[in-house]
Amino acid sequence: MELKGKKVLVVGLGKSGLSAALFLRRQGAQVTVSDMRSAAALAKEIPALLEHGIMVESGGHGLLTFRRQDLIVVSPGVPLDTPEIVQVKAFGLPVIGELELASQYLRGKVLAITGSNGKTTTTALTGELLIAAGLKTLVGGNIGVPVVDLIDKSADDSWSVLEVSSFQLESTQLFHPQIAVILNITPDHLDRHGSFENYAMAKERIFSAQTKEDCLVLNADNARAASSAARTVAHVYWFSMEEPVAQGAWVQNGWICFRSAPDAVSEQIIAMNRIPLKGAHNVENVLAAVCAARLAGADAVSVANAIASFQAVEHRLEFVAVDNGVEYYNDSKATNVDAAAKAIAAFPGCIHLILGGKDKNSNYADLSDLLRRRVKTVYTIGSAAQKIESQIRGMVPIVSCETLDRAVAAGRAAAHPGDVVLLSPACSSFDQFENYEHRGRVFKELVLEHVGAKGVR
Ligand code: ADP
Repeated sequence: MELKGKKVLVVGLGKSGLSAALFLRRQGAQVTVSDMRSAAALAKEIPALLEHGIMVESGGHGLLTFRRQDLIVVSPGVPLDTPEIVQVKAFGLPVIGELELASQYLRGKVLAITGSNGKTTTTALTGELLIAAGLKTLVGGNIGVPVVDLIDKSADDSWSVLEVSSFQLESTQLFHPQIAVILNITPDHLDRHGSFENYAMAKERIFSAQTKEDCLVLNADNARAASSAARTVAHVYWFSMEEPVAQGAWVQNGWICFRSAPDAVSEQIIAMNRIPLKGAHNVENVLAAVCAARLAGADAVSVANAIASFQAVEHRLEFVAVDNGVEYYNDSKATNVDAAAKAIAAFPGCIHLILGGKDKNSNYADLSDLLRRRVKTVYTIGSAAQKIESQIRGMVPIVSCETLDRAVAAGRAAAHPGDVVLLSPACSSFDQFENYEHRGRVFKELVLEHVGAKGVR
């Protein structure tokens, strides 16, 4: 795609929007950025953009600004049904996302990972496995480094390991990973995608440009993810916690095993008790990462050693402290019901669970079995509190706390030695916090200011 002299509008000035605008400018495009936020809210970004000769429209989108362009690049946070975007699409203007833009310039091979849950953990882990095996590796995407920022570092022999979300995939057309992974597809973001099927179809775009030469890694234990096998031309590899697979990774006799083809020798990669991450869901992530890394050419010994030394990514079932025999875990990234379910299932019982935040059209009654079996008390916070309480009433004692500080204090007061206080809120954070990272940091501060350094293992 020739960008020199083209008029390009970047919609949404988040981290990837900013990187995309600067990249486009470096390619010689005439770039404008449009954001709903006010000039005051963008005070930090605007001077840097103007300095690079990028025009800025703040405080809303003007249809004229959109219609004057040759290309529109939409940030993942901006819904594609934004009226101005719908209108210019109808006029035939090309509308793409940052992932699509970047993937047209990225050199080397791409290993892309999507799923409802586990993307960041699996992407970070897969990156480590490739690095440990000596492969030239870049890690980016939804994990915090915009894909456009990888372009300059990419080379013909590099692997770009990318975390890709349904929002990013929604607007891709030519995005073509040599290895694609779908970890799982469970209800999430229904507020934006409208229905479960639309959401699942957005995830499936990860393999829509793949060819017969490429690999698609699917979760055999997740019905919706597994069903994608019927719609791909790529080689399908599987991972499963439940039974051996023809080709891919599985668990057997306490080991993670892998084979590259139905008639290949099975390899025992690593004993389960050497995996440092908590919870069965993380074993799934390890299986997916092992399969993807072996397919990318990482050797089995390096893969095993890198898994053994891998630490939980911040805010993902992250150990915070132990105080009076009570353990505190920060799982602020559990922004949907399935993620919270996996976190609850990672502990044998006696959990004081902090739930709530901004609802995403979720059904909290899906947690009922786990709540009855493993949770001592639920502490609700945020704008979803009433809905949660009405859906789980009678299953478990509930304390309405409204705020995180009151929930931590109430959990601490009630917990006995051997109990766990777990923030795994099953909701997004935007009602009371800037984002899930902010919520997780506040939780850790609340725990640590009481416990002090003595509680940190
Ligand atoms: P994502 O990037 O997809 O949001 P993360 O690795 O950041 O995934 O994990 C988010 C949350 O999802 C974690 O806090 C954990 O509770 C849960 N989780 C992680 N891996 C899985 C999995 N394979 N299946 C279900 N839930 C998971």
